[in-house]
Amino acid sequence: MTVYLVGAGPGDGDLLTVRAANLLQRAHVIVRDRLIDSSVLGYISPRAVIYDVGKRAGESNTQSSINDLLVELASSHDTVVRLKGGDPFVFGRGGEEILALRAAGVAYEVVPGLSSALAGPLAAGIPVTHRGVSRGVAIVSARGEGGELTDFRRLSRTGLTLVILMGIENRRVIVSQLIDGGLDATTPVAVVEGAWTSQQRTTRAELSALGSLDVRSPAVIVVGDVASFDLRSLSVRDVVAR
Ligand code: SAH
Repeated sequence: MTVYLVGAGPGDGDLLTVRAANLLQRAHVIVRDRLIDSSVLGYISPRAVIYDVGKRAGESNTQSSINDLLVELASSHDTVVRLKGGDPFVFGRGGEEILALRAAGVAYEVVPGLSSALAGPLAAGIPVTHRGVSRGVAIVSARGEGGELTDFRRLSRTGLTLVILMGIENRRVIVSQLIDGGLDATTPVAVVEGAWTSQQRTTRAELSALGSLDVRSPAVIVVGDVASFDLRSLSVRDVVAR
């Protein structure tokens, strides 16, 4: 009779918290998002019933129908896991689902996950803060509630590393707003696609070139001097490639 909102992390199943892995094994029902790596799904008990409520353009799963589903499942199952990519409270609409569970008097618990906002840059060897280079990081969604674009002009003079989620589609206008607002066109940027999945790929450039990079979602965009860093371990493959 409890709904657990569980963060699945950015990809690889071994980045799950121990608590998340235990819950996946115990759950009778899993309500999952689309962006969940197959290595995470491997932790789910073969007896569990899985609902895929991933939202693609044109699909009919509205947030309110997901909320209703969670409330309904909680009335007939002991352990319901709502599995979300990354961290449930970072652009995951976890808060909205909790408000609905609360309103219905359903017990819940939230289990944090590694967010792509931090683990994504790290996968590319980018420290989002670094002494003497960046003393903070702003995690920003490129779009708001109704799809309207975030005002990037206001974010251009913070001196912080920017980590932009859901920004691939609008990268051209993000660039022009940041430059308009005063950010140097030569500021380093990095795009980390599919971090911690088999599709992981990093592309680095200057801010002015971000608009024309051939990159795909899901990806995080890192803007700031740290984006030129690559602190990945010197694996055998890296050494040979040099
Ligand atoms: N709650 C999630 C974010 C959900 S919003 C989290 O904490 O990670 C979805 C956006 O997250 C995507 O558009 C993309 O910008 C980013 N994202 C999610 N998984 C990613 C991954 N494996 N690699 C890069 N970006 C990812």
